[in-house]
Amino acid sequence: MSTWHDLMKEFNQKNKEVFPNQRFLALLEKTLTKFDSIDINNILLEVLDLIERERDIEKDLLKKTSSHHYIRASSIGYCPQSILFMLQGKKSKPSNSLLRKFHNGSFAHIRIQSYLLAMSKFFPDEIKIIHLEPYFVSERYNICGHVDAIISIDTEDYIVEFKTINHEEFQGLFEVKAEHYLQAHAYALMTGIERILLLYEDKNNQNWKCFYEQYDCEIADTVIKPKIKTILQAFANNETLQRYDGSSDSCKYCLYKSFCKQLTLETEESDIYDLL
Ligand code: SF4
Repeated sequence: MSTWHDLMKEFNQKNKEVFPNQRFLALLEKTLTKFDSIDINNILLEVLDLIERERDIEKDLLKKTSSHHYIRASSIGYCPQSILFMLQGKKSKPSNSLLRKFHNGSFAHIRIQSYLLAMSKFFPDEIKIIHLEPYFVSERYNICGHVDAIISIDTEDYIVEFKTINHEEFQGLFEVKAEHYLQAHAYALMTGIERILLLYEDKNNQNWKCFYEQYDCEIADTVIKPKIKTILQAFANNETLQRYDGSSDSCKYCLYKSFCKQLTLETEESDIYDLL
């Protein structure tokens, strides 16, 4: 007959499998309670060193794949025309305030990566860091990009993706945002790792919410792969694609806004000529 202890062990094991996000968050919080026993500067330097090593691997990979055009996996959930502009190499200089926003996001990523590294030191039997910010290229699916981290928890591999979002958005967040859900699937296609943890941080108070997603081949087959195909076809045929209406957050921070406006003007002009 099972004892209470056996039943609890079984329950905890099931919980680990069904809710890896909760387990991951609990380990992260536990890590922070121990943080005063280590030197944050050393951990940050170690993180930067690990990222630098990944950059060297990336340089070699880029040399081998430079003749081909790949779509960035992180952009797959966004406006198709902005992805096409990216492929065409169009880019305008971001304003200083937008740069500060981007930098804030990058520094938050390094801080969270340092927590992950510390976590792997405090709990080496439970979590291991496999890569910090590795770069992947998938020739098969024509996608490339950096993944924030690849870790293993209890011997299962996970992609970990961090997102910093504003307070209002964070308050209303009860599931992974649609664009990040698609991004997670592109990462799974690119890496072959089917378990994804998405950690959201509130920019105002650094609170966290973490979600676990598992690769769904139907999403990949019906959304991601057709979208990649459409964008690559438009690129090859020098066509334009469907755009957002300008009111979305994506448009607000889009680096291709000026090209997009130009496109709108050209379309309007050609519509007028058609009417004449
Ligand atoms: S401004 Fe908006 S519609 Fe235009 S490319 Fe950027 S995201 Fe797409």
